[in-house]
Amino acid sequence: MDLAGHLNHKVFHIISTIAHQEGIQAFVIGGFVRDLLLTGYDTPPKDIDIVVLGSGIEMAERVRQSINEEVPLTVFKNFGTAMLKWEDTEIEFVGARKESYRKNSRKPLVEDGSLEDDQNRRDFTINALAISLNQDSYGQLLDPFGGLKHLEEKLITTPLDPGQTFSDDPLRMLRGIRFATRLDFLIEPDTFEAIGHHRERIGIVSQERITDELNKIMLTRQPGKGFTLLDKTGLLEIIFPELYQMKGVEEVEGQFHKDNFLHTLKVLDNIAMKTDDLWLRWAALMHDIAKPRTKKFEPGTGWTFHGHEFLGSKMIPGIFRNLKLPLNEKMKYVQKLVQLHLRPIVLSQDIVTDSAVRRLIFDAGNDLEDLMTLCEADITSKNEKTVKRHMRNFHVVREKIDEIEEKDSIRNFQPPISGDDIQYVFGIPPSRPVGIIKNAIKEAILDGEITNEFESAYRKMLEEGRELGLIVQNKLKKRGD
Ligand code: ATP
Ligand code: MG
Repeated sequence: MDLAGHLNHKVFHIISTIAHQEGIQAFVIGGFVRDLLLTGYDTPPKDIDIVVLGSGIEMAERVRQSINEEVPLTVFKNFGTAMLKWEDTEIEFVGARKESYRKNSRKPLVEDGSLEDDQNRRDFTINALAISLNQDSYGQLLDPFGGLKHLEEKLITTPLDPGQTFSDDPLRMLRGIRFATRLDFLIEPDTFEAIGHHRERIGIVSQERITDELNKIMLTRQPGKGFTLLDKTGLLEIIFPELYQMKGVEEVEGQFHKDNFLHTLKVLDNIAMKTDDLWLRWAALMHDIAKPRTKKFEPGTGWTFHGHEFLGSKMIPGIFRNLKLPLNEKMKYVQKLVQLHLRPIVLSQDIVTDSAVRRLIFDAGNDLEDLMTLCEADITSKNEKTVKRHMRNFHVVREKIDEIEEKDSIRNFQPPISGDDIQYVFGIPPSRPVGIIKNAIKEAILDGEITNEFESAYRKMLEEGRELGLIVQNKLKKRGD
């Protein structure tokens, strides 16, 4: 197969010329070749992997000299690799190598090798495809393991024995599941079985690498498939036990509850159609995470999961810590969505009162839109009528939110009277009564008892102060007057 006409990136000719001058061989290999063949040659590459029969670092330096502009070069001496960043593309150079592995590490012993040796060490046949950049064979596809056929058959399989491949570097198990998910490929049965067989080996992979793969799975078009594969290979139980525990249905007195794992994956796939936001997707994956722990069968009522949104929100920091996800505002965001995920549903089932909507706007703040997206994704009924009814109800809630937002400014609520104001008016130091009055004003506004304005809040303050036995010492003017 001649792909010369498709090697559009300007770096390929530069490499080819240098390889010719130096009398060494160079190839483009891996993900670039796979995606080139898969996507009909039209997506610009984000990264390009070059393998040379010689020093990858020297080749990278020569390429950089030939480019008539400043391009940053990063050299990883220990790994014998170098990376050029040219415009938006990362171009990685490595010398062809042969690898051998030890039992307790995914870091191989490395020696110089041939192109075949280098293709052998690749994780999947579709990732072992190479294209020659040498002048006499420029553009020729080198496909020793039938990678091209596997691309056509939509098959993930390893160049060498799958058991050996996964045992050597167990990260490949997750990469395989990630590729199967992203490309919507099948994992070839022996390969699949080998993952199951070697699943415990995942223990030698660092949590950062595991989570990096989980995030990549999360960002695919249908992440639910990835988690199904993780479950079927037995990996899920090891790397994400809280999610694994959501599996299954129980029956009491002929009543079943739904399988919360399957439901969750459906919600995740639903939300993936609406948003690319990684954290909103994580919130969807974890919104019911506490259902197994709150599950109860109550005779007469059936299955209940009381408080699962609160307990779920409490479980998030522990899960984030274990997964080495960031313990920052992203985590707080996920916690908040998990905690609030039932609120719009409750609203949509009741008569929607202004004050309930106001409280929701207040509690969700700027994440209200995301919360509504999550709630809509949470509708997974197979009954189309039910789905339509829920969607209609949510539509009413959304309209009500817009209406109230126009009237009151509850989002990013700033109290019209501050603690300082209260201290000044009653001539008191920072103390409990100040908090009580502040809170009473906020509650009154949220309940719609008073408007979100200075005058009415002022009156409320005086009223509350009187009840607490405070006496007005100073008059306060409206700010800005
Ligand atoms: P993408 O960049 O789209 O995620 P990719 O296949 O390019 O996919 P990279 O991580 O960029 O993946 O790696 C580039 C190439 O290096 C792969 O195509 C594969 O040939 C090889 N490779 C990467 N990681 C491994 C691994 N753990 N074991 C064996 N080969 C690997
Ligand atoms: Mg890549």
